[in-house]
Amino acid sequence: MSIRAKLAWTFILLLIFGITAISSYSILFIRNYLLSEGELQIQNDTEWLTITIENLRLDDNFETNLNEAARTSGYRIAIYDNDGVLFTQVPYNEELQAPEYLSQPLIEQLLSGDERVTSVYDDEERLTTYSLLQSEFNPSRYLEVSILKDQIYEPIKTIRWIIYTGMFISMGLVILVSILFSRSISRPILQLESAARNIASGKIGQSLNLDRKDEFGTLAKSLNRMAEKLQADNLELMKLNQKQNQFFADITHEIKNPLHTIAGSLEMLQTTKLSIEQRDKYLKTAERQTHRINRLFKDLVTLQRYDSDDHFIQKQRFSIQKVIDLILDIHESEAKEKQIELNTLHNSQEVIGDPDKIEQVIENLVNNAIKFTNSGTIEINVTDQNDEVQIEIKDSGIGISSEHLEKLFDRFYRTDKARSRDKGGTGLGLAVVKSILDAHGSEIFVDSTPGEGSRFWFTLPKA
Ligand code: ATP
Ligand code: MG
Repeated sequence: MSIRAKLAWTFILLLIFGITAISSYSILFIRNYLLSEGELQIQNDTEWLTITIENLRLDDNFETNLNEAARTSGYRIAIYDNDGVLFTQVPYNEELQAPEYLSQPLIEQLLSGDERVTSVYDDEERLTTYSLLQSEFNPSRYLEVSILKDQIYEPIKTIRWIIYTGMFISMGLVILVSILFSRSISRPILQLESAARNIASGKIGQSLNLDRKDEFGTLAKSLNRMAEKLQADNLELMKLNQKQNQFFADITHEIKNPLHTIAGSLEMLQTTKLSIEQRDKYLKTAERQTHRINRLFKDLVTLQRYDSDDHFIQKQRFSIQKVIDLILDIHESEAKEKQIELNTLHNSQEVIGDPDKIEQVIENLVNNAIKFTNSGTIEINVTDQNDEVQIEIKDSGIGISSEHLEKLFDRFYRTDKARSRDKGGTGLGLAVVKSILDAHGSEIFVDSTPGEGSRFWFTLPKA
């Protein structure tokens, strides 16, 4: 059974039950009211009938007058003589026959004179009262006044029909209202259900339009938020997937090139007519390319470990200047060859970080600076900044135009692929820098002007 039908049936049954209960109670209440009113009435009427009958003369008009009294009062009147024997009863009514004799206890009760009119006798079908007659004009002694209860209940027949008609009309209305009401209640539920089904089946594009201030509205908002979140996550996943695909394509490409060169060199080496210099040249080329593939894998492994291993970084206190000096020593001859001056301002501040990994960061940045500077100066300076130190690598090289800056730290991103590859680069150096600094909770910044030079900097906490 659908939720709408369940709601409608619940309302209908509840309301029908309510209406029936109220109607039955009303009818019962009116019946009791009419009966108690009838009892009061018959007692009052018996009193004036007693006086009326006492004053009737026993002549030709006696029966007629008695009949008249019965007709105007609406009761069946029975008169008994001194011995309690039925004298007459008017009007004669088969269902309301008076007994032939009055019972002795009743006669004694009437003669004791405690009350002129007895209290009402209420049996299944009728109400009856008795009274003692003291007439000088006729021989009647006791009066019995009686009425059928059906007569008392007469007005209820009309009222009952009014109630029943009202009941049926309200039931009809109830059914109609219940159907409409259940429809209005179930509509948002059905909408929510269909929205949830859409989300479950992956259709998260359309948002649910339920402008309500109740729980349904809140639920709709939550569903919308969930759909939005799913959509955002989906987009993120798609981007990630795309990135991964790109990443694999790049790796393949990066490996294909050196392998191709190595294959070419090996082929040349197989020809016998080569001079020693030529042989040396091809061997060197093959060696260089092997070295490059090796470095590529090393970088990839490093990056992969930063992604998956939180404990890859072992922080400790160390002198940043010592690390810089070491790197400058290594690159001194290479710089000299390119007529590049390497400068540093000495700073003895100790910092917190992983010295080996920070060394790799600075090494990669210095390596780039030398690679992309034809002549001029490269400065590596450490400056104090409150609780941190800033490490800056500044060159007077070719610079980077602004459109590349955003993607510079992406894996395999190079501003000029061919040129970088010529220089033995794989485009992973800056990605490694970013990963290491990320793991340190630090960030890498870059600022560059094409033709003037570049400046990379990051910070580390002071020890
Ligand atoms: P690898 O570092 O793996 O040997 P790479 O140096 O080409 O290769 P990254 O270090 O990631 O790769 O640098 C990415 C690109 O950013 C470089 O190819 C170069 O185009 C640009 N770049 C990096 N540093 C500088 C710099 N100091 N001056 C000018 N361009 C730079
Ligand atoms: Mg590099």
